[in-house]
Formats: sequence, structure tokens, C-alpha cells
Amino acid sequence: MPKTQETTLEIDLSALKHNFQYLKSKLQKNTKFLAVVKAFAYGHDADQIALHLQNLDVDYFAVAYTNEGVALRDAGITKPILVLHPLPVGFSTIIDRCLEPSIYNNKVLNAFVQIAAEKNQKDYPIHLKFNTGLNRLGFSENEVEDIYSKLNASNAVSVKSIFSHLAASEDPSEKEFMMHQINSFKSISEKFKSFFGYQPMLHMCNTSGILNYPDAQFDMVRSGIGLYGFGNSEMENKYFKPIASLKSVISQIHDIEEGETVGYNRAYKSKSSMRTATIPIGHADGIGRPYGNEKGFVIIAGKKASIVGNVCMDMIMVNITGIACEEGDEVIIFDASNTADELAHSANTISYELITAISQRVKRTIKK
Ligand SMILES: *Cc1c(COP(=O)(O)O)cnc(C)c1O
Repeated sequence: MPKTQETTLEIDLSALKHNFQYLKSKLQKNTKFLAVVKAFAYGHDADQIALHLQNLDVDYFAVAYTNEGVALRDAGITKPILVLHPLPVGFSTIIDRCLEPSIYNNKVLNAFVQIAAEKNQKDYPIHLKFNTGLNRLGFSENEVEDIYSKLNASNAVSVKSIFSHLAASEDPSEKEFMMHQINSFKSISEKFKSFFGYQPMLHMCNTSGILNYPDAQFDMVRSGIGLYGFGNSEMENKYFKPIASLKSVISQIHDIEEGETVGYNRAYKSKSSMRTATIPIGHADGIGRPYGNEKGFVIIAGKKASIVGNVCMDMIMVNITGIACEEGDEVIIFDASNTADELAHSANTISYELITAISQRVKRTIKK
């Protein structure tokens, strides 16, 4: 195996395919699959991931912001792209690049209809987002009539889907509230149909929704984290393969005497003689300060080496006392068996935050 020579995020496209097929196996035959590739495909590499998924049978993509959709179009993505949280400043670009906006309140509805009309659009596809309990973005059920009046007066746009988002689909103790959200969504879709006279595509489930609420698949599901290899529960994680391995290398080893300190602010004080290794990855690469002071760890020669002292911008120091290793040896921050999920938990956060934080400075390599 070639040794890692610098901090590298290796992306395994066959694991991506495995996760996609596993998620697809959970769907009814006609349910469409939307791949969520916002935030650089959760920190991996949006272009490579989306291009690979486009060749598998993904129906739709979603990003959070307009510029992410533009980047996908520039990379050669031709399938529909839903922009989940567009802001009016990007509406003209949305139309120019054939992106499809989520419309979540009256202000953005008015702004989008106006721009679409100015650009002489007819039936430009929009997606209406409804709030069913997350209280983040979305219209409420009692706004359907108003939306109808507004859209009835213009033929510039047409509603291609209506959707909502679950607040805690991974948490079994929130089942009752999830059912309440699902039922509200059904009632919104009925109301929509009674005004508009047709039913657009309906979608509600994220990854954990697919796994835990099979009756709420409607016409499409939206999956992000599952594609990248996490099922949000110990039971489900077994069926997924994390697609990324974050590796680095030992740049320098130090022998530390009892009572010496390590790193900024002298935050670590050694209790006896010990060895540390300095690794070229820091908070500017996505390993945040909460991982410091022996919360987080890396794997060297198959053993856990905890982070001592504060995480620096470009480096961490880890305790390698008792681990047989030398300068130039490979370091695993996370991979398919030492998972990002586990490392994230060490700093009281979740896999989503750790993987999306891996900064653009870290080299990406693609394994086919
Ligand atoms: C990010 C996001 C998703 C994907 O959620 P996962 O838990 O990663 O599958 C789906 N829908 C919306 C609206 C989102 O913002």
C-alpha cells in the first residue's frame, strides 16, 4: 500500500454506489431519489460525487445555495437541481442556470414570480416548502389559498413539487411528533390539490426518514448522509460504508520530559516522560478545537493516539507513548472502520459536522 505523504481525503466511489443501492433497496419501485450534495457533498467533493451519482440512476440533486448549483452545472450536471435555501439575490442566476428554487415564504414567492415574468418564463419549475414542525423554513398550511391566488394570476412559474422536512427522523422517541408532521404534510397536499386541481410531486424524507418511516416516501426521498456512509444509528450504520478516509502523516516526533508542556497556552502538562507526534492537520483543516485536550484521537499503527493540548490552526500533537511508529508513518483520522461518527462523538458533535468541516485545503483523491 502506498504510504500517505500529506493530509488527504480519499473518496471511495464504490462505497458511494453501495450506499446508494442500499438506500434504493428501501424504496418503493416508483419513488424517485434526490441526492443531497450541498456543502461540497458534505465536505467530500461535490463535482466528483455528483458526476458519479448522475451515472447511477439518481433523479434529482439538491444543494443549499445558488452558487453550489452553479458549480454543479459548470461541472457538467444536467439533471434537475433543487436549491433548498435560495435567497432573492440569486434568483436571476437560478433561472439562467436552470436551477429550481425552493420557495418558502411570500417574500421569496413574490420576488421569484416577478423575476421569472421579467425573464419571460412560462411554467418555470418551483418547489414549495411547507413547515410542519421544524420551524426553520416554509409556508404554513393556512397560506395555501394565498399561494393559489398569487400563482393563478401568473403563468411564469409552475409548482413541480411540495415538500417538508422532518425534525427528528433519527430519534425513535420522537415518533409521535414525526407522525404528526407526516399527517400535516398529507393534509397540506390535499389542500393544495383542492385549490390547484392537481397533485405535484410530494417529498418529505431525509436519510433517517427513509429508514424509519417507509410509509412517508411519497413520490421522492432526499438523502444526504446515507450516501456518504452513515445511517444515524448503530444498527443502521452496519449497512452503510463511509466513503471517505482522512489520512495524514507524522511530521515530527518529540520526547517530552515529565513536567514539560505541549502546544499553545501550554495547555498540556506531561505527568511523566512521554512521546508525541506532530500531525499536519489542524482547525483550519476541519479538526476543531473541541477535539483538543484528549477528547479527540487519531489512529497510528492500529492504536488510538489522543490529541494533547490545544488544536493548532495547522497541526495537532498526539500522544504516541507506547506506539511503535516513526516520522513519515501514516496516520488515520477516520476511515471506514475508525469512523467519523465515532470521532465526532468524542467532541460531542455528529458526523455531519465533522465531515462537512474538512476544508478545501485538504487534498482529495478519488478511488474508483
Ligand atoms: C440536508 C437536507 C436533507 C438531507 O438530510 P440527510 O439527513 O443528510 O439525509 C434533506 N432535506 C433537506 C431539506 C435538507 O436540508
